[in-house]
Amino acid sequence: MAEEPGPAGLARTAPRGEPRSSRGPISLEDAREAVLSRAAPLPVEPVPLDCALGRTLAEPAVARQPVQGFDNSQMDGFAVRAVDAASAGERSPARLRIVAESSAGHPPRRGLGPGEAIAISTGAMLPDGATAVVRVEDTRREDDALLVFARVPPGANIRRRGEDIAGGSTVLEPGTRLGAAELGVLASLGAASVPCHRQPRVAVLTCGDELVQAGGRLAPGAIHDSNALSIPALAKLAGAGAVSTGWMPDEAEATRTTIAARLDADVVAICGGVSVGEHDHVKGALAELGVEEAFWRVALKPGQPTWFGSRPGTLVFGLPGNPVSAMVAFLFLVRPALAGLQGSRSERPRTIAVLDNDCDTPGGRTRALRCRLELKEDGWHARVGSRQGSHVLTSMLDADALALVPAGTGALRAGERLEVELLEPS
Ligand code: AMP
Ligand code: MG
Repeated sequence: MAEEPGPAGLARTAPRGEPRSSRGPISLEDAREAVLSRAAPLPVEPVPLDCALGRTLAEPAVARQPVQGFDNSQMDGFAVRAVDAASAGERSPARLRIVAESSAGHPPRRGLGPGEAIAISTGAMLPDGATAVVRVEDTRREDDALLVFARVPPGANIRRRGEDIAGGSTVLEPGTRLGAAELGVLASLGAASVPCHRQPRVAVLTCGDELVQAGGRLAPGAIHDSNALSIPALAKLAGAGAVSTGWMPDEAEATRTTIAARLDADVVAICGGVSVGEHDHVKGALAELGVEEAFWRVALKPGQPTWFGSRPGTLVFGLPGNPVSAMVAFLFLVRPALAGLQGSRSERPRTIAVLDNDCDTPGGRTRALRCRLELKEDGWHARVGSRQGSHVLTSMLDADALALVPAGTGALRAGERLEVELLEPS
């Protein structure tokens, strides 16, 4: 059970021995705030650049030196003094003397004097005295002589020292998630490793007598444990380090000992068994284990029966068992926690889309509607899927984005504009 409780604020049934909660669900914003306020960044460690993809930078990346560190050529050609080719043209070539070569990684041994040219390749260091580079296409070489058939303005085809990165500038701010471009830039700054917050260790526990491990044979009434795959996958996508998984039956003592054994993780995400049915033992076990409740139930559909609490060093989430609810609650609550622990901003890309179909959104809860995005001539359009049940996991296959519709919005009509949060492409 779980997704649809009774009237807002009242649980339908209370497990024996536990007082019925009189508090209503809290808003999604307050729930996120409660989570983020407990998700302080983990300690910082140096991470070799080639292992840092997806990690979060803990300190500013400052350029000690300009990049590139020297003026260099943008073309294969010849370094010249612009003044020596000032009147060059197709019929009146300038005649210069080739005195040396500057190739990439091999600067010339000498500078450039009047009437001289130095052969230069793309990226090679500009010789002292040179003020322009003439393209090889605008020249003809005759032994040591160079004929230049085009006027070259001063500065032509030169890439200046520090054009990419000025010395002393801050290139990346703390909290930046390191992607391909960031790693390349850090390498160009000369870094071998970068300071990053430690990646959170996550334990995912699934709970329920009906659950059978993927690939196992189903007895009557049993189902395969899908959360055991989808939730760890979301954790990894959110930057978790080691992710362990485990299962526990609907039994109080086993629930307590299984959870107790995982409380050394930074984040424990328990799927199912958190609700108020007679066979739901998670909340009771967490109370016995000294995990202090921060909230129970969030005004979010799907995802209402979500519990969150903490004890020193560990954040614990009790996620709904229903597979879509578990994913949605993870995306809106656990992912921000994992981002916070890594010192990163957790915002996902959002965009505005025009709604293509009517959609009823009754009730006092924020709705997370799964929708399909399409780029049309006037921008992004969203079509809300017809199957929004919290048990219909395949509805996530058809979704590129979640539209977050605030509580109390009422019916949405085609043509309205909606803010949508993009789901991971990966
Ligand atoms: P619960 O939150 O334990 O009351 O479970 C709510 C619904 O989610 C029930 O239909 C469960 O069978 C289902 N469920 C719970 N855990 C899982 C899981 N790990 N994988 C798939 N379905 C689950
Ligand atoms: Mg259950």
